Amino acid sequence: MADPVLSLSGITRDFGPFRAVNDVSLDILPGTITGLIGPNGAGKTTLFNVLSGMLPPTAGQVRLMGQDVTGLSPDKLFALGLGRTFQIPRPFARMSVLENVMLAPMAQIGESLSGPFLRAGAMRAQEEAIRARAFDVLDFVTLGALADHAAGQISGGQMKLLELARVLMGDPQVILLDEPAAGVNPTLTNVLIEKIEELNRAGKTFVIIEHDMDFVMQHCDPVIALAEGRVVFQGTPAEAQANPVLLDAYLGTMADD
Ligand code: ADP
Ligand code: MG
Repeated sequence: MADPVLSLSGITRDFGPFRAVNDVSLDILPGTITGLIGPNGAGKTTLFNVLSGMLPPTAGQVRLMGQDVTGLSPDKLFALGLGRTFQIPRPFARMSVLENVMLAPMAQIGESLSGPFLRAGAMRAQEEAIRARAFDVLDFVTLGALADHAAGQISGGQMKLLELARVLMGDPQVILLDEPAAGVNPTLTNVLIEKIEELNRAGKTFVIIEHDMDFVMQHCDPVIALAEGRVVFQGTPAEAQANPVLLDAYLGTMADD
């Protein structure tokens, strides 16, 4: 079996006395699209926050492509090949769609290029390269025509595609998507699915939190269920659908969201 691209061992995250994620151990294999399901409050987003460096775990270890990355910042993880999108996108509303995408790698590049020795010419060349890549990435997610629009003016579904574009600026190996289809119309959801599958065929690994069971059952394998911070199921979509406990206890409750 291939080495996991992402490996969690004993990940726990407390908020004061409350344990939001409880001793989660998982291996994510390269080239998979994992569906992460579970009722509201199960700890899915908190787990993503720990994986992407937004929150340190209370206990446990995260390994990315074999390297211990526990506690590294989101910028460092992005540079190492891990990208994530947010459940609720928060673009810089008054900046253009293009500028929002260009900002994604700026933090890293700014770090390596800053300092007294940086020449203005080198910086302009760098900015042009980033702009060209941002246009390519926007075309890929079908937002090319909206490049000059204010990011606050585009639809919720387009914002989800913008989030994906920002992630793709880093050329990540592992992409975490937090409820990509929530509140998105079917047309844009289909665009999103098409793009996920295209990227997956090119070798990218995905972990996707999603409440839409049709989405999960059709496009994700394996399926992992969290409840009260713990992994309560791991298997194929067919196994998930044949699991009465899972159906009653978790899939059923999600229909009410
Ligand atoms: P999910 O994404 O599965 O709906 P979350 O990870 O957002 O669940 O939340 C899991 C639990 O942790 C919830 O009870 C939530 O209220 C709590 N929680 C999440 N973030 C925080 C925080 N920053 N401070 C305190 N409690 C939090
Ligand atoms: Mg969530």
